[in-house]
Amino acid sequence: MQITFFDEAKEILERLESYNHKAYFVGGCVRDMILGRNIGDVDIATSASPESVQEIFDNVIPVGLQHGTVIVRHNRQSYEVTTFRTDGEYSDQRHPDSVTFIQSIDEDLQRRDFTINALAMDRDGTIIDLFQGKNDIAKKVIRTVGNGFERFQEDPLRIIRALRFSSQLGFSISDDTLDNMKLVKQEVETIAVERIKQEVEKFFAGKHVQRGIDYLKETQLDYHLPVFRHYHHLIHKLPDRLTPVPSFGAVTALFHYLKPEITIQYWSSQWKCSNREKRAANDLIRALHQFNHSGMNSWLVYCLPAACYPSFVILINLLMDKHAVLNDIMKWESILPIHSRQELVIDGNDVKQLFPDRSSGPWIKDVLNAVEFAVVTGKVNNNKKDLKEWIKWNPTAIN
Ligand code: ATP
Ligand code: MG
Repeated sequence: MQITFFDEAKEILERLESYNHKAYFVGGCVRDMILGRNIGDVDIATSASPESVQEIFDNVIPVGLQHGTVIVRHNRQSYEVTTFRTDGEYSDQRHPDSVTFIQSIDEDLQRRDFTINALAMDRDGTIIDLFQGKNDIAKKVIRTVGNGFERFQEDPLRIIRALRFSSQLGFSISDDTLDNMKLVKQEVETIAVERIKQEVEKFFAGKHVQRGIDYLKETQLDYHLPVFRHYHHLIHKLPDRLTPVPSFGAVTALFHYLKPEITIQYWSSQWKCSNREKRAANDLIRALHQFNHSGMNSWLVYCLPAACYPSFVILINLLMDKHAVLNDIMKWESILPIHSRQELVIDGNDVKQLFPDRSSGPWIKDVLNAVEFAVVTGKVNNNKKDLKEWIKWNPTAIN
């Protein structure tokens, strides 16, 4: 599987080389290949200028030209192709003030954050390893390339990235790197929330998230993160053995559940959540409360969007004494009489016709809500005749 992945990407290296440029696989994909992990994305570094890359390939998207990055589309896959570069000063601790494109991979590897990420591989599979990255992978250690204090000051996001990689890979952080993380940690407050959030999302989804949490507690980096900086004990409210929480919506729901005083609205504005994440958090919280109240049932499953099922199961297992598996929800789902309001065989007009003397108003929606609930919970069949009967005989529904 991975072989094919690289084989296809290799064609890009070959193409660049045929124009007399140098080109390598770099960063996470090389690390993950050595580890036998699934490879998320294949990043390529090249001596070709961004303009040349755009000329050489037909299908390119210039996503970050100022940093030398273009996306090359090849066989329906996207590859980030970045020109070898060195970073200038970081006066704003966010972006280098300038980048300089260079001809050799060596200096490009030097600008990278950790030794395990500073590996390059040519198309024959030969690995360039200038900082003992392979050795650190074997020892499962995260260590900065060069002086940690300086590297974290240049870009404090790397402090969070160290935690993120320990959570994803289960690696330890070298003593020296950890000391420097502690020294520079307050600088994290200067970074744009959007950048922090990307890393924190991956952190909570990491397979070894408990490892990451242990480091988070040890470094007290949470004192410098949105929301957590105002709630110093929040992190200690987490269950003892945290399991991966797959999405930021679920992370939002988790912390709101643990500390209801932190509203979803407040959390979301501090973390700049998308509407989709907010919606997922609200859906999950509602389902958790329903589950607490009356266990798994058809109405709960009906109201919860299918995309939230896996997170819901994880949250139940983390937060409640009861145990749940995805199969429980799938069973309920498979016997639902309808899956959305649209599948009801009556609509507002049918309801109105049943009560010709009443003028339109919000009562119609109330009736439909009551009908929807009755159908989903099996009190009435979803056919016109039965539904009309049911509405007539259930006056509460029309008040
Ligand atoms: P993932 O599997 O999550 O994609 P990754 O290692 O590929 O992990 P990315 O964020 O995609 O991580 O970054 C790609 C590479 O770019 C890294 O492996 C690293 O070499 C370099 N890099 C990314 N962010 C930084 C940073 N803030 N400072 C230095 N180097 C970085
Ligand atoms: Mg990557």
